[in-house]
Amino acid sequence: MTNSIIDGKQIAAQVTEKVKKRVEDLKAKGVTPGLAVVLVGNNAASQTYVNNKTKTCEKLGMYSVLIELDEQVSEEELLHKVEQLNNDDKIHGILVQLPLPKQIDEDRVIAAISPKKDVDGFHPESVGKMMIGQQTFLPCTPFGVLKLLEYSGVDVAGKHAVIIGRSNIVGKPMGQLLLQKDATVTYCHSRTKDLHAFTKQADILVVATGRAKMIDGSYIKEGAVVIDVGINRDENNKLCGDVDFASAQEVASKITPVPGGVGPMTIAMLMENTCLAAEITLNN
Ligand code: NDP
Repeated sequence: MTNSIIDGKQIAAQVTEKVKKRVEDLKAKGVTPGLAVVLVGNNAASQTYVNNKTKTCEKLGMYSVLIELDEQVSEEELLHKVEQLNNDDKIHGILVQLPLPKQIDEDRVIAAISPKKDVDGFHPESVGKMMIGQQTFLPCTPFGVLKLLEYSGVDVAGKHAVIIGRSNIVGKPMGQLLLQKDATVTYCHSRTKDLHAFTKQADILVVATGRAKMIDGSYIKEGAVVIDVGINRDENNKLCGDVDFASAQEVASKITPVPGGVGPMTIAMLMENTCLAAEITLNN
């Protein structure tokens, strides 16, 4: 199958170029979009993610602050920090990097972030608005996947989209967003019986299982578009997705690589959401 690789790095660069212009417009009006990233503990992967996020902010001319808290921080202290950021006029977006240590209730922390600054789109108010199609901050990873499809010229309407994974941050919102774009959506998960039977019907297959290279070409219909959300390490400690790229690209018409597919889009959409948050404050 002649296929094309969806270049997430290049599409993310196009998205952030547009954000950069919006940041310049905002600055001309006296507002610098500001993002606060809160990191608890010293998880190496989280450290890399937050560094990428703050670096991208700087590149786009945005203000960013990284708040690093000790692994042992109490829930009350973290909630207090979030409250301070809610009341800080220089900050338009707040992101608390997940996962959090076990003494902290993630749901409570997410609910404490002002919905006006919820640029990750995880607050129950944002999730509810997304479900009913009201304007809100969309969760960055599935939002990024929508952009990848749009920029790659994939028309979603009427297509059968199969999502493997139903997490609150990727799978579930992914299906909702594709539904709003008029796809017919099927969710699969670890209790799905005969996964092949579903994935083989997919015109668009989104894989978010967290299982390295789990989905090979045998799961994929000839000509399908395959989006790999996974970020894992393989047996040689190399980054890899949830899709076995080599065999999948034999059958897919378009496919995202790992790295360089969905990952860069997640950060690009965070920048777009932060910019939007600043624009909304200016217009209110
Ligand atoms: P979770 O572990 O929260 O969810 C995984 C989902 O996959 C669950 O719904 C689970 O089902 C399902 N699943 C697991 N094993 C199987 C299986 N054998 N067959 C079918 N379904 C299965 O992961 P996340 O959604 O947070 O992340 C998914 C992947 O995406 C990870 O690799 C993560 O690193 C990556 N990721 C990448 C991002 C990016 O920016 N590119 C951002 C966020 C995540 P069940 O619900 O039944 O347990």
